[in-house]
Amino acid sequence: MMNSSFSYIDENLRIIRENIAEACAKYGRSNVRIMAVTKTVAPEAVNHAIGMGIDLLGENRVQEYLSKAEQYDPAQVHFIGHLQTNKVKYIIKPMSMIQSVDSLRLAEEISRLAVGCGKVMDILCEVNIGGEESKSGTAPGAVEELLEQISELNGIRIRGLMTIPPPGNSDVFLGRMEELYNSLRDKYGMDVLSMGMTGDYVQAVKYGSTLVRIGTGLFGARNYGGTNRL
Ligand SMILES: *Cc1c(COP(=O)(O)O)cnc(C)c1O
Repeated sequence: MMNSSFSYIDENLRIIRENIAEACAKYGRSNVRIMAVTKTVAPEAVNHAIGMGIDLLGENRVQEYLSKAEQYDPAQVHFIGHLQTNKVKYIIKPMSMIQSVDSLRLAEEISRLAVGCGKVMDILCEVNIGGEESKSGTAPGAVEELLEQISELNGIRIRGLMTIPPPGNSDVFLGRMEELYNSLRDKYGMDVLSMGMTGDYVQAVKYGSTLVRIGTGLFGARNYGGTNRL
């Protein structure tokens, strides 16, 4: 449903697409997918973005997703937030990828439930590339061992890596992610490097991101009190 009060989304998306196209041309990249990150955003605004060609949503919180899911127009949905093992059951069917896998325990629960519903769940391993205590994700040095263990599980398919780099020094951390990804890509058949948010997506494209996750740059500043408007 097109709604002129959401015209700021059209303009934001136009700018994002233009920036990505420019970065791809400049750095010799291609096929960068745009995810719309929907936390706190009203379903009507999300649907407007879908109407403008967005075909991938990113969800951070299970409860929020469940409260909005029925109102969304058709689109793929990936889980990108910290995921508690006991909540996997709510998202195993509707979601097509879980980007935030950072422990064997979580992977085993995804595996168990995916097998139970006859599905193969795509996953990314979340990497704490900055080694920040406040962030979830696997330490860079432990990623390969985790992938090795996950690759033994049924019902789960490793597609790549995801990260939220520390603020600042983006070249350093995005560059490290690219190295890590390149060192593991062929061995595990990876094709997704999910990095880049509103503040660093152009830099992320430079370092080989294949999927950028954009919230505020598309929908405006998050208003935790209610609807989301610029
Ligand atoms: C919120 C969030 C984003 C989007 O962040 P913006 O800076 O608003 O673009 C991307 N990835 C994850 C995991 C997030 O939680």
